Amino acid sequence: MFKKKKNIIFLICDGMGDRPSKHLKYQTPLQTAVTVNMDKLAESGMTGLIDPIAPGVPPGSDNGHFSLFGYTLNEVPGRGYLEALGYGLELKEGEIAFRCNFSTVKRNRKGLLYVIDRRAGRIKDREAAELSKAVQNEINEIDGVEVEFHHTLEHRGILILRGNLSVEVSDVDPHKVNEPVLKPLPLIKSKKAVETARIVEKFVLETYRILNNHQVNVEREFRGLPKANIILPREAGGKTLVKSFKEKWGLKPACVAQGPLYRGIAKSLGMKVFMVKGATAMPNTNYKGKIEKALDLVEEYDFVYVHIKAPDVSSHKRDSKEKTDVIEKIDEAISQIVELSIQNLSDTVTVITSDHSTPCETGRHSGDPVPILISGQGLRRDAVKSFSEKHCSSGALTRLTGRHVMQILLDQLNMAMEEGLKMPKPSPYFRADYEPLRLKK
Ligand code: ZN
Ligand code: ZN
Repeated sequence: MFKKKKNIIFLICDGMGDRPSKHLKYQTPLQTAVTVNMDKLAESGMTGLIDPIAPGVPPGSDNGHFSLFGYTLNEVPGRGYLEALGYGLELKEGEIAFRCNFSTVKRNRKGLLYVIDRRAGRIKDREAAELSKAVQNEINEIDGVEVEFHHTLEHRGILILRGNLSVEVSDVDPHKVNEPVLKPLPLIKSKKAVETARIVEKFVLETYRILNNHQVNVEREFRGLPKANIILPREAGGKTLVKSFKEKWGLKPACVAQGPLYRGIAKSLGMKVFMVKGATAMPNTNYKGKIEKALDLVEEYDFVYVHIKAPDVSSHKRDSKEKTDVIEKIDEAISQIVELSIQNLSDTVTVITSDHSTPCETGRHSGDPVPILISGQGLRRDAVKSFSEKHCSSGALTRLTGRHVMQILLDQLNMAMEEGLKMPKPSPYFRADYEPLRLKK
């Protein structure tokens, strides 16, 4: 039998990978930032570059994460579902959830609704909550399908449709301004998808009817603010039956994350989710608190996934200086991990990587590979002494695909099964349901 000795802290710095920026003398934020701790881990471990999904494919945060955790793209349940889960909303099979925005639309002469502002001037919580209540009061069900709308933050919300529905329905949100609101279409040939598209269309038209002349919007217009006169659903998702992380890898997982999408990803894979005081999923988050929590959790859990959203936030703002600063704060926060690791005082394997690159020059996710480091007692080392996109390109892990990472880690924990053995994977060590042979009485 294998003996489990080590555990893993898996730190995902969202959108950390970047391209050289003209504002940083053609260096990346990770190259520019002073990262003594990450560099020490790189020096004492192995590094490489990862294509989270495949070379040149820009991942979304949801599928980037699923790939890093060893799942395939068709196992990703859809962002609407993951975010709903992150907000504590449960769904049964056949029920679906959408991410939504309160948006501003203007009707043209032909009766098309043109999107003027996708976020309705980033409407404040109080007003959005009032509009949300109006929608909830008027739309409880559409043709036998139960309808729930939950306002979350600012202009954002979640639509849940409870019935026997399909996630294969296109986005209503055109994702651009000065474009018409799109008619939801079935994405596959199925009765269920056609029916779902029809329900979504009814919902969207109803929200326009309810919201366009609502008192809140009349007042907003008076103050010169854009009306929040429609709700635009997108990214439908529903429960998929995937193996939990523990079943798949034999590791007992925990997660430290603040953003609802990330809490949802963790929950959907059966990870226990922990939140930390002062964590905000923004550049002003409590970096130290998150790492301290992770260090506590590795005492009890085999795999602790820590998510830090801040680098991606700065990237979308196209602020390479802020991103550099954020990376330095992450580096400071991990000093304790590094001390324990360098002095060989811990059995923890530390992984630092990213779910995708988000270059500050474009403010959008890109298909550039992301750097990774894996460091821990007794693990191989390579000649790389610094953690950056450039240095990691000559690391021992070379260029991997995201879905290979977990298998490599399992092997580093001495839990990988030798190929050819007829034993339940991932490891007999964790199989409590393993049945022993019994002598007949
Ligand atoms: Zn991301
Ligand atoms: Zn992003």
